[in-house]
Amino acid sequence: MHYHDYDDLISNNARWAGEKLEKNPDYFQNISQDQKPPFLYVGCSDSRVPIDTYTQTEPGEIFIHRNIANQVSLTDMNFLSVLEYAVEVLQVRHVVVCGHYACGGVTAAYENSARGLTENWTTPIKDIIRSHRKELEAIPHESDRLDRLVELNVVVQVRHVFQVSAVERLIESGGYYPRIHGWVLDIRRGLIHDLDLPIDQWKEEGVVPSSYQPNFPNGTPGLPKVETR
Ligand SMILES: [Zn+2]
Repeated sequence: MHYHDYDDLISNNARWAGEKLEKNPDYFQNISQDQKPPFLYVGCSDSRVPIDTYTQTEPGEIFIHRNIANQVSLTDMNFLSVLEYAVEVLQVRHVVVCGHYACGGVTAAYENSARGLTENWTTPIKDIIRSHRKELEAIPHESDRLDRLVELNVVVQVRHVFQVSAVERLIESGGYYPRIHGWVLDIRRGLIHDLDLPIDQWKEEGVVPSSYQPNFPNGTPGLPKVETR
């Protein structure tokens, strides 16, 4: 792995800005006007998962919240304010919770090796391990077990998104609401896995309002059509 020097960051930035201006002299002027990102991304702080690189998206497209092991904590004011702003003001069309294989936070919770604040932060993952013990123990190889735990962690965090009152209110309102997705980044292959979510089961449990529809083929009702670049 080649690491850049500190000075490289500044010189890379100047070159990148110059290249952008060469292609479009108004690029930064346009960006500075406003933001209307179609996506909210909730991911892990891990340095290997910069989602705009993986998705080839530009500044202005993805509103981002990251923390260790992509936790959706219903008591985290930082996360809750990001989510509320994203759905109520920005009206993002999609909310994506994204984990990744080889996640240090998930592994630390599994191995009970986190210390200090990280240990507190990843404690909810230990609850996921306990509540899925049978399924996890049935997986013979530890690396596969950890991969599955990463997926389960994402599914549980997506479930939490539905429990945020701002999201629930919007879905029940019958107008605009965002579609909510769970992804895992397979960092060994560079690919996104779009996970199947147990939406019907969550509806039965009352976690997801019955009016929620994960897919609208013709765009999100209640919102004007997205301008494509
Ligand atoms: Zn991670």
